[in-house]
Amino acid sequence: MLAVGCGMLGQLLAADSGYRGPRVPCGQGHEAVFTAYRDKAIDTVLGPVTLNRAWYHCAECGHGVAPRDAELGVAGASMSPGLAAMNDLAAAAGPFAGAARLLEELAGVRLDARRVGRAAEASGAAVAAAGRERAALIASRKVVPLPPSPLPDKLYAVVDGTGVPMTARETAGREGKGEDGRARTREVKLGVFFTQDKLDKDGYPVRDKATTSIIATFEPAAAFGSLVRAEGIRRGADHVRQLTVLGDGAAWIWGIATDKFPEATQIVDLFHAREHLHSLTRSLEFMLLDRRDEWLAARLEDLDYGYIDGIEAAVRQYPLEGVKKDEVERELGYFLNNAPRMRYHWFRQCGLFVGSGVVEASCKTVVAQRLKQAGMHWTVAGADAIIALRCKEASSQWEAICDHRHNQTPAA
Ligand SMILES: [Zn+2]
Repeated sequence: MLAVGCGMLGQLLAADSGYRGPRVPCGQGHEAVFTAYRDKAIDTVLGPVTLNRAWYHCAECGHGVAPRDAELGVAGASMSPGLAAMNDLAAAAGPFAGAARLLEELAGVRLDARRVGRAAEASGAAVAAAGRERAALIASRKVVPLPPSPLPDKLYAVVDGTGVPMTARETAGREGKGEDGRARTREVKLGVFFTQDKLDKDGYPVRDKATTSIIATFEPAAAFGSLVRAEGIRRGADHVRQLTVLGDGAAWIWGIATDKFPEATQIVDLFHAREHLHSLTRSLEFMLLDRRDEWLAARLEDLDYGYIDGIEAAVRQYPLEGVKKDEVERELGYFLNNAPRMRYHWFRQCGLFVGSGVVEASCKTVVAQRLKQAGMHWTVAGADAIIALRCKEASSQWEAICDHRHNQTPAA
């Protein structure tokens, strides 16, 4: 079937020679002159086909150009757009060798694993560049996204970071947590956006289906902040009634939240706060002894209510000295610094999410599942490209619902 289809596709393509007159624009402001008909081999979903098309040459830039390539979406590429999309999907899902096998088993297309990787990384880099370009256009108000319709009640931005294992060259000279003090990973920062309108019958918030969009970058917090701001605007941050930023308590997250979305409610992820409470309890274990479990249970109750003063008072009952005092103060500091972001009882009354199972899941699915497999070492460029493909895929449901052309209006 594929062979028959491939033969038909070859003939269909041959019906147009790509001749567009004796001269065509070269793309750099000059005219290119028709030179000859030349072959170009492309791999398609149906198999390899050879395209014979008119070839023009620009004397001024010294470059050749085939208008037909651009029309077919294969300029500078050796895969058809259809095959490239399949390749992106497979390479975003798993290691390149496995992706090549998948393409052969499921689609009958035989590609070298290295070529799968190169093509996917090129696509991913283009996706990431398009995302940055869109963010810059939104930031400069050259593109003004219209409010989403219907307007959601609550928009959430969940911000997190996670390490990606890197090649030695990418981490050279960077300090890390390893025993030798060398970094093994580079942090990718993620912003996950979704909306929520409803509560379930028990009064818990329910995430609106297919509203998730994700952005990610290895760039420093400042650059990430601009991307988050632009995505927030695109998602209607300026129009929704309730905007919320959820994070694990890291200072850079609140720096971005305060700077980019000063109107947003800031909430420390309850699950992270609970983990910190467990480690605070461990630090006090030697004083608590067999009252440990009881003490922890009571503090967890304090936390669920957002009663940070109660946690502080319970800790201060134990006079500590020296190293132990520093350790406990540090653990307690996490709660004191974030107390306004831990008013969980109040947040729940407002019908807000207080735990970001969402971002944990997103970090895992977008980054860990694909990029943190045993033995993997990435370059920043390679990891950035594959993460971009995975973010695009994770965001695609929302994109599909929200048609760009109808949802954006150029300001000029
Ligand atoms: Zn030219």
